[in-house]
Amino acid sequence: MGQVDLVIHAWNKYRTEVRVAPYERPALSKGYLLPEGIELILRTRVKSADVRRKTLLTGTGETISYKYLIVATGARALKLEEFGVNGSDAANVCYLRDLTDVDRLVNVMQSCPDGNAVVIGGGYIGMECAASLVINKLNVTMVFPDAHCMTRLFTPKIASYYEEFYQSKGVKFIKGTVLTSFDFKSDGKVTAVNLKNGSKLPADMVVVGIGVRPNTSLFEGQLTMEKGGIKVNGKMQSSNNSVFAIGDVAAFPIKLVGETRRLEHVDAARKSARHAVAAIMEPEKTGEIDYLPFFYSRVFTLSWQFYGDNAGEVIHFGDFYGNSFGAYWIHKGHLVGCFLEGGTKEQYEAIARAIRVKPRIEDLGELQRRGLEFALSLRHKPPTEGGFGGIMKKSLYATAGVIIAASIAAFAYWYGRRCKMW
Ligand code: NAD
Repeated sequence: MGQVDLVIHAWNKYRTEVRVAPYERPALSKGYLLPEGIELILRTRVKSADVRRKTLLTGTGETISYKYLIVATGARALKLEEFGVNGSDAANVCYLRDLTDVDRLVNVMQSCPDGNAVVIGGGYIGMECAASLVINKLNVTMVFPDAHCMTRLFTPKIASYYEEFYQSKGVKFIKGTVLTSFDFKSDGKVTAVNLKNGSKLPADMVVVGIGVRPNTSLFEGQLTMEKGGIKVNGKMQSSNNSVFAIGDVAAFPIKLVGETRRLEHVDAARKSARHAVAAIMEPEKTGEIDYLPFFYSRVFTLSWQFYGDNAGEVIHFGDFYGNSFGAYWIHKGHLVGCFLEGGTKEQYEAIARAIRVKPRIEDLGELQRRGLEFALSLRHKPPTEGGFGGIMKKSLYATAGVIIAASIAAFAYWYGRRCKMW
């Protein structure tokens, strides 16, 4: 039996005997035995919130009081119906937001081997799903209204690299149009996608990734909103002192750009969560969040990272015919953003540090000539105020992890309850 077989064997044995995920034992004789901790309430919906009274009303009629509330309600996938197209309920139309969605997508994919998949949307979900679908041997066509993929971040030059790479794997792109309707079979499944440009695409399955909307409805009219989310200060605190917001739903100040932004990315969710926990538990030691926006993706053999802000003039660098290239963004005379495909760990760290330093750029030609070497040369410069990678103490990280887990039930709170840890 090989090593992998052994692991699988051990896992199967474990899975049949114990109905929990794999875990490490040290906490069993420590935190698990303590009387106070975080209670996780699953399968419970919060129906309404009263931030003046500091109470939540659940779907089962229970009222929960809190001292502090952390809103981690995230965002929901936009449905086609919001664009006037019906068919989201069809058995072979898939969205991807949670584990149930992705399990369903896998089932649908397996039900139509070698079939035609139409991907609606050219953002993160569209690009990542299209790659997986083609790897699973489906014939993939992507449809989106923009001139190129990932318009939120990519320049046309960067986008064309990825589009050509996808095309070399068999993915077709139909740009500058949207779908207007589906054709259905008698069993309710979609058989074709009709586009505004008049064409019809045969479809055995459809994947929709057309953006998200933050889940703010519980707090509309009670908290100040901005950028579609809950506006918070540098301590992740909303317009009500006892309510904090983190992740996709929070619009928070980004020092680098001097603006409030709502960021839809796992890194922002993790770091904003840590900061809110620190601000609540150690208020006197916790300053304003100094978050460096970070996005990444991995598809096929490709992998990119982006730090900062994609505003201002763009300078491309590297080998767009090879495996590693990138771009700098210069705004108001300073380097504010950097994208890198195919970098090493050290190179990614260097571009992150360069954006933190936010150096003044006098000569764009010189920057272009030096390319990635410019960021590498700044490696030993001290980072600006706030440090590189956050200001939190490590001891708070574990607590933040539990808070994120608790947010699955919608809210984390730790007040007035005595119970065991996990
Ligand atoms: P997105 O905002 O990244 O992309 C939306 C895409 O849909 C755009 O290409 C847009 O032009 C297109 N679109 C909008 N309306 C359309 C229409 N009517 N017809 C066809 N196309 C239309 O959103 P997403 O891809 O749905 O991703 C959802 C969320 O998941 C985002 O918050 C994203 O940041 C997150 N996500 C991030 C990653 C990552 O960071 N690697 C990976 C997956 C998902």
